[in-house]
This record gives sequence, C-alpha cells and structure tokens, in this order.
Amino acid sequence: MIPYGRQNICDADINAVIETLRSDFLTQGPQVPNFESKIAQYCEAKFAVATSNATASLHLACLALGVGKGDIVWTSPISFVASSNCALYCGAEVDFVDVEINTGLMSVTALENKLKQAAEEKRLPKVVIPVHLTGQSCDMARISKLAETFNFKVIEDASHAIGSAYKSSPVGNCEYSDICVFSFHPVKIITTGEGGISTTNSNEIAQKLRQLRSHGVVRDPLALSSEEEGAWYYEQHELGFNFRLTDLQAALGASQLTRLDEFVSKRNLLASRYHELLSELPLSPLEIQEDNYSSYHLFIIRLNNRSIRRKTFDTLKANGVGVNVHYIPIYWQPFYREKGFSKGYCPNAESFYNSIITLPLFPDLTVQEQDQVVKLLRNCL
Ligand SMILES: *Cc1c(COP(=O)(O)O)cnc(C)c1O
Repeated sequence: MIPYGRQNICDADINAVIETLRSDFLTQGPQVPNFESKIAQYCEAKFAVATSNATASLHLACLALGVGKGDIVWTSPISFVASSNCALYCGAEVDFVDVEINTGLMSVTALENKLKQAAEEKRLPKVVIPVHLTGQSCDMARISKLAETFNFKVIEDASHAIGSAYKSSPVGNCEYSDICVFSFHPVKIITTGEGGISTTNSNEIAQKLRQLRSHGVVRDPLALSSEEEGAWYYEQHELGFNFRLTDLQAALGASQLTRLDEFVSKRNLLASRYHELLSELPLSPLEIQEDNYSSYHLFIIRLNNRSIRRKTFDTLKANGVGVNVHYIPIYWQPFYREKGFSKGYCPNAESFYNSIITLPLFPDLTVQEQDQVVKLLRNCL
C-alpha cells in the first residue's frame, strides 16, 4: 500500500533520540527549550511553546486568549475536529465559516458577511481559527484587518503548514495573528511522534501557555504571590494540565527541523509533477493563491461529483493506493449535529467535501509510485 503520507526518519534522527536517552533528562531537560528556540527562530516569531500535541496547543491557545463560557469561537468546517473541539474544552460555543471551493480555505468574504450579521446580533466571536488546509496559508492580511474592525483574536491552525510562506515570510511569524499552532504528528511535515507547538510574539501569552501546559504551576520568584519559602517552593495559580513534550521528542524534532526545507521542496517538486501529469484529466487540484508557498502537507484533487469520487476512491484503494478524504465537514459529525448543526449549513464546504480525494504525497514518494497513482486515475476517469 502506498500511504497518503509518511514520515522520513534518518540515522541522525535516531542518534539524537539515543543521545537523549543516555542523557540526564528524558523530560524537562534542555532539549525542549532548544527545540522551541529553533522553531521560533525558523518561524521568525519571538516565542515558541511546545506541547504534547497540536490539539493540546490549540486548547491552551484558546485558554491563553481568555476563551471560556459564554464566548463563541469560529473556525473552518473543512478541518480536523481538533480545530473546533479546542473551543468546546474551554466551555465556549463553536460556529463555522464557509470555505472557498477552489482552495478549501476559510472564505474571507463569508467571514466578513457573517461578522456583519453577528455584530448586529451582538454575537461576535472572541476568537477565529483559520485553518491552513494542506499547508497553504489563509488570507491572513485580510483576516487580521477584520480582527481589528470586529475586535476578535486570531489563532492560526497551521498544523499542516510548517515550512510554508505567506507574503514571502514564514507561516508562524504571527504578523497577522495572536498565536500560530503547528502539529508534529508523523503524517505532518516534520515529526516528534506526537507533538505540537505554539508560536507567538507576546511574552504574556507565551508565559501563560507555559504555565498552563504544566499544571498552572509557577516557579519564578518574581511571580510568586507569597514570600519565598525556599528553593523548593512553587505555587499553583490556576488549573493547568500536563501537556508537556518530552526531551526525547524534542531531540527528534530538532533533528527533523534541519531537513524541513528539504522536505518541503521535495513535496513541492512532487506536487508540480502531479499538476503536470494530471492536467488533462477531468479533475482539478486545489489552487494555490498568489503570495503563497505551500508546505504541501496534502495533495487534494476535486472530481466532478460524489459518485465519481466514490468510484475513484474505491478503485485506487483496491489497487494499493492509500487515498484519503480531508475532511468531512466537522458539523456533520453526530456530536456536532446534536448541537443543532444540520446539513446545508455551509454549502461550499459540503460540495467541496463531496468532490475531494487526497492523493499520496510525502518526501520519499518515488516517481514510479506517483506514476502508478496517475495511471490508475487515468483508467478510472
Ligand atoms: C493534525 C491536525 C490537528 C491535531 O494535531 P495533533 O498533533 O494530532 O493533535 C489539528 N488540526 C489540524 C488541521 C490537523 O491536521
């Protein structure tokens, strides 16, 4: 089976983990801060705070921006459920903004219209979470203008998008957002096994994220509320979690990071090869907008209709191609339907969903494997 995505692990990665295993710290040692500062530097952000996974990072990002009961968070329906679950963890409500059909990204026009209506109803969101589907950044400049006008905060769900660029700057620099979240799950661009990270330019937010990922506990003498008892002393200031990344994972991440640019250019090379090979077939790959360099976490094609999609998917799968579908509209999930969402809520997201297939794309995909995928597609269509 050719999978739709696969990690690349080399000897240097393995040695980095072994070295950490032989060191004094398996967790809470020097590897996590080292990885964080390398990610911050790569993304041109001031701070980076690593956690056990991107879902935890999204959860803490919402908490750090004060999301709680009575608040509303908006995200894209074409994403993994974690993009919206994070708001529910905080006791907030979730709502969805429809997408552009040619990219699957949150439609800024739909966002603007929904904001105008919400302003009239006095139900504006506290936070909007645009999702950089497949690694292509949403139109963050326009979203951040709306954030100013309508007074909401922005968390980028950039789980797919480490190594991407928007307006010639790295995604994650938080020029147009408060917090940007990346995932290091093995199918994503670089991996720590499980892992996530938030970048931000706010010292206050970074402190809050660090505190929340480790039980809400404070050790900095300047931050303690009562007089210091001794070097052992710490205080719990709020209800936090254990959402820490381990040093073993961070060592792997730092080693992977040295090959990030290589991975992304390989993905781009294979993606442009798909574009060429598929150009004559009755399908359309997602469009890349101006000012974007995509990490190409996923290569998604759109077919003409639901039944062709089904037939094509089944044929590829039966012939050893690990195709997938990214994503089922979140509010179609039974859990979300119980909250009152019904089919038809975001028409573009639904017709997008009905037409898509994710083809295999990862740095070690061979051209022979790619040709095999294309050949099967050609026979199908
Ligand atoms: C993978 C993913 C997540 C969750 O990442 P984890 O690290 O697995 O928790 C969130 N949002 C999107 C869009 C993702 O693809």
